[in-house]
Amino acid sequence: MNRRDFLTTATLTSAGIALNGCNESHHVAIDYSKHPKKHDATKHININKNKKTVIRLATSWPAHFPIMGTGVEKFAQRVEDISGGSLQIKIYPKNVLVPALAVFDACSSGQIDAFHSGPYYWKGKNSAFALFSGMPFGFTAEEINSWMLFGGGMDLWREQYAKYNLHPFLGGNTNIQMGGWFRKPIRSLADMQGLKMRIPGLGGEVFSRMGVNPILLPAGEIYTSLERGVIDATEWVGPALDIKMGFYKVAPYYYSGWHEPGSVLELTFNKHLWSKLAFEHQSMIEVASSELNANMATEFHAKNILALQELKKLNVTLAQFPNDVTEAGKKALIEVVRDLSAKNNDFANVYKSIASYLILSKEWSDVSLKYFLNIR
Ligand code: CA
Repeated sequence: MNRRDFLTTATLTSAGIALNGCNESHHVAIDYSKHPKKHDATKHININKNKKTVIRLATSWPAHFPIMGTGVEKFAQRVEDISGGSLQIKIYPKNVLVPALAVFDACSSGQIDAFHSGPYYWKGKNSAFALFSGMPFGFTAEEINSWMLFGGGMDLWREQYAKYNLHPFLGGNTNIQMGGWFRKPIRSLADMQGLKMRIPGLGGEVFSRMGVNPILLPAGEIYTSLERGVIDATEWVGPALDIKMGFYKVAPYYYSGWHEPGSVLELTFNKHLWSKLAFEHQSMIEVASSELNANMATEFHAKNILALQELKKLNVTLAQFPNDVTEAGKKALIEVVRDLSAKNNDFANVYKSIASYLILSKEWSDVSLKYFLNIR
C-alpha cells in the first residue's frame, strides 16, 4: 500500500500545489536525520491548510463507548480544531476496519495508522506489556502517570514498542477499578476456591493462584453467563460503566478492588508514520493526548460518584474482601512476578523500575494522601 495515499488526502488543487511550491516533498515535513535538533523545526512552517493529513485510528471500543470511546473522539476533534483542519484523525470503532484486539498488529504493520486500546491486551506478545497498564496492588492513576512521565516508565514503554514499529502515548486512565460483582458474598478465602470469574490480565493470574478459575468472555456474553450461573463473578471497571452492564441484577455483591488500581489506556501510532508527521502536528498530538489522558481519569471519577449513588438505590451490597483473600492476593502477586520475571527479561526489567518507584511512592502517599483520606 502506498502510505502517501492515505497520509495526504487529495486536496491538492492546483492552487494548493502552487502554495506548496518548495522543493521539499510537499506531503511530509521534516526529515529529522537532517535536522537532529528538534527545535530547528520551529524555524519553519511545515504544515499547509490546503493539504490535509489524515490518520486512521482504530479503537478497541464500540462507537461512542462512554468515557473511553467518547474521550478519544474528543481528542480527534481537538486535534482537528487546533490544526485548523490540516490534521484529521478518523476514528474507526472496533470491528469496522479491524477486530477490537487486532489493532496492535494492524498498526504495527501499517494497515492502520494509530489505535486506542489498553497495553494489557498484548501480554500474550510480551508479558511486560501488562505492566504498562499497571498491576494488582500497584500504582494509583496518579502514581502511574508520575512513573510514566517522570520516573522512566514512558521510556521503557517506547523502547519496547519500538521493536513493533509502534510509538505509544498515554491515552487515559480508568482510575481505580472495583473488585467486581459476585452472586454470593465472599466470607473467606475458602469461598473463592473454584469460583468461576471473568477477570483478565495480571489480576486474572493472581486470582488464579488464589484458587479462582478465571474465565475470559467477550463483553456481550458476561451478563447472560452471570445470570445463568455459567460464571459466579465478574470484574468490569467501576460504577459508571458497570451500571450500564446491569450486573447488579444478577450478582448484587459489589466488592472494592485492588487488582486494577489505575489502569493505563494507550494512544499508539505507527512509528514510521509518526516520524513522518510535521513537527507541528506531532506537537498538537502530544498536547491533545495529554488532555485526553488527564480528562479521562477525572471523567471516570465524576461519573463514578454519580453512578455509585444510583447503585445504592438498586439493592447493591457494597463489600470488601476479607483479609485472608487480600493477603492471599499479595502472596500470589509475588509468585506471578517471580515466574514472569524468570521467563521474560523484559518483564523483569520493567518490574524492577516499577518496584523501585513504588517503594518511594507508597511512602509519600502513605504519609500524605492515606493519612488524609483516613481522617477526612
Ligand atoms: Ca477491569
